[in-house]
Amino acid sequence: MTLTIIDQERSGRLAGHSEPGAPLVPAEIALIDAATEVSVIATDLQGRITIFNTGSERLFGYDRSEMIGIANPMIFMVADEVENYSQRLSEEYATPISGFAAVVENARRGIAEVREWTCIRRGGDRFTVSVCISAQHDREGRICGYLGISTDVSSRKKSEQDLFDSEARSRAILETAVDGVVTIDAQGAIASINPAAVRMFGHQPSEIIGRNIESLMPVAYGGRHTARFARHLARAYRRDVGSGREVLGLRKDGTTFPMEMGVSEFRVAGQVMFASVIRDVTDRKSTEEVLRRAKAEAESANRSKSEFLANMSHEIRTPMNGIIGMTELALDTDLTPRQAEYLSLVKSSAEALLNVINDILDFSKIEAGKLDLDPIPFALRDCIEDTLRTMALRAHVKGLELAVRIAPEVPDSLFGDPMRLRQIILNLVGNAIKFTCQGHVLVSVQLERQGPDVELHLSVADTGLGIPQDKLASIFQPFVQADGSITRRFGGTGLGLAISQRLATLMGGRLWAESEINRGSVLHVVLKFALGVLDEPTQPPPDLNRLRGLPVLVVDDNAVNRCILEEILRNWGARTTLAVGAFAALALLRASFERGQPFPLVLLDGMMPDVDGDSLAAQISADPALADTIIMMITSNNIPPNFDLGAETRIAATLTKPVRHSELLHAILSVLGRQTPVVRPVSTFIPASAPIPEEPPVINKFALKILVAEDNLVNQKVVAGLLAKLGHQAVVVGNGLEALAALERETFQLVLMDIQMPEMDGPAALALIRAVERLSGAHLPIIALTAHAMKGDRERFFEEGFDGYISKPLRIAELASAIDALNPFTALSPHSRALSSVCS
Ligand code: ADP
Repeated sequence: MTLTIIDQERSGRLAGHSEPGAPLVPAEIALIDAATEVSVIATDLQGRITIFNTGSERLFGYDRSEMIGIANPMIFMVADEVENYSQRLSEEYATPISGFAAVVENARRGIAEVREWTCIRRGGDRFTVSVCISAQHDREGRICGYLGISTDVSSRKKSEQDLFDSEARSRAILETAVDGVVTIDAQGAIASINPAAVRMFGHQPSEIIGRNIESLMPVAYGGRHTARFARHLARAYRRDVGSGREVLGLRKDGTTFPMEMGVSEFRVAGQVMFASVIRDVTDRKSTEEVLRRAKAEAESANRSKSEFLANMSHEIRTPMNGIIGMTELALDTDLTPRQAEYLSLVKSSAEALLNVINDILDFSKIEAGKLDLDPIPFALRDCIEDTLRTMALRAHVKGLELAVRIAPEVPDSLFGDPMRLRQIILNLVGNAIKFTCQGHVLVSVQLERQGPDVELHLSVADTGLGIPQDKLASIFQPFVQADGSITRRFGGTGLGLAISQRLATLMGGRLWAESEINRGSVLHVVLKFALGVLDEPTQPPPDLNRLRGLPVLVVDDNAVNRCILEEILRNWGARTTLAVGAFAALALLRASFERGQPFPLVLLDGMMPDVDGDSLAAQISADPALADTIIMMITSNNIPPNFDLGAETRIAATLTKPVRHSELLHAILSVLGRQTPVVRPVSTFIPASAPIPEEPPVINKFALKILVAEDNLVNQKVVAGLLAKLGHQAVVVGNGLEALAALERETFQLVLMDIQMPEMDGPAALALIRAVERLSGAHLPIIALTAHAMKGDRERFFEEGFDGYISKPLRIAELASAIDALNPFTALSPHSRALSSVCS
């Protein structure tokens, strides 16, 4: 008996030369023995192994010497598997068959069979073999044994299992995918369609598989698709493959829908196939459309708003210019001092208003994208110094030092928009002065980078209130102020920084802030300019030789100013010595005189604590040893000189801070050249506290003593003036707290109370007054004075306990009737009010 473990064809070939099943000849046996890739095992009728070739040794791990004539192939087989097979055969042939007999039963019956069996290798490993068994016959044709040819199919089985698993996975994904997946063959015929695609297109798989992909496209697309498809197949045109495209899909009911499609190419059995992943984007498209429309509407609304704002600002600006111009003309006519003062207040108020309107106009221009730069060649130092000069008085009035330091390497001749640069500086320095109560404001300019363009870094540092860290970014947003409370102490629109930032962006730069509360802030701006070519200066360059090595004494109590003057003078070659005050200065001057190396030139700060510049100049002039010293004075403004100075005080030149470099140089060279004293200009500056000359009083029989609580100085004067005109007596205070103090001190018949005030605002003061009155039973009429002119404000103020309401700007008639309505003398009855007006 022989056991064959190989497929039919192979076993035929092995036995090739003779009839299949014929007894093996010795040459064949030798050949079989040597075969290494297939296992060939022959047995006798009982199953005892007669041939166990090299391939069998490798497959099963046994040596042929252990097997031939000794063992039965059943030792490799799994008993349960043989048992199950035996039962099946027993049922099939209706006769009990088991063990080895079952394994060879079909071969015995002459039935060719290839079966897979699980085998056990020496050591216990299991593996799958594909076995072909044939019966061997003797010369008389009787079965004399079996021949089994087998190959290890474990790896093939594993690949099959893997493939099966992977297919199951892909199927699960395709079945549950939200996106549609359609596969097509190289001819464009649909090969598969997943449930999502079925839902999208409305075709069942049975209806669509085999049809051309064009069935899922609108007619207009179909032809194009075929052409593109053909091109793709010709490998000339690969655009569709892999890329996501938006196309229209065609449903079974003839309707279309927008879909996004990605196509990938793959191969099945060497055949090119394509998989299209399709997403229905109807919802997304409609959302996009809604958003697009909303955005366009918002943009258009924003544009109209900005255009409206720009137009309105223009409309307001024109009459404002009229007001300012006419006021200026009126100021030039013969006026009483009171009229002149009133008109100056009109002018400064109109100018303040114009500034606000200009800010709004600029802002709306930026919003509407209409703000352009106007580049021209300009001189940087002149531009900055001239701009700062306009701020010097403001700084001086607050007792602040305003200094500028422009690094020597910064080129002077630039090409850009000097007006917009000026606007940025005005805003930053204006803020620095506004938010600083003592100390200094320092403007520095440094060269950030120089290539084809010049990048300048301008910073404005102050020693003021500082900006809270959490506001450092938001202050650049329009209408945002760091102190947004109703009782804020400083005015402003909150637009300046927003405008400056946009201007900086337009000028290729940026703006940012650093700050420490109560220590000060630094606003930085980086701006780009082109290098300019200015006309050659008409004046010859100054002769710096006269300054080289010249000893100069700089006397200034402010360290920043000392430092800047020293740097400027050092750049010109002078030898600078610094003194912090009069005492040190005099000591240095006298010591150097005694050493025989007197200072030919002293630069004096006009305003210093203890001994000021004027007194120091007088002391120097009075000292015969220092008779040759040239004194130059640097003052903070054109305040009238101290007329008590001795007539012999020699001041060769007076310069105003911030000093222009060129002016300082020319002044020094000129005083060194002539050494004749220069007479200082006498200023027309009028101190803010100058008293207003009184006009003869108006007689009002029903005059009241009125307390006015109002923080704005101009408005204080306006209200006081109007009340005086109505014949009332006014006492003016600056905020709610002061109002309470005044009410404790004196008796008033009426109060005009501003709403927004620092320290304590109007409503808070009113609440306290009303609380006290609840105990005393008295009632003081209080009229709200406010710039709020919004709907509903009137009701709100009455609810809060105000007796009347007047909105700014105040009109005398309105003020009169509001007061009259509450005047205990006139408000008794309409009749008596009429009488009173006749009497007055
Ligand atoms: P405005 O000065 O009209 O309020 P800005 O846009 O110029 O508007 O400034 C916005 C806010 O930034 C100011 O209200 C102030 O709170 C803050 N700020 C700007 N500069 C300074 C500064 N140098 N020191 C302190 N706070 C500042």
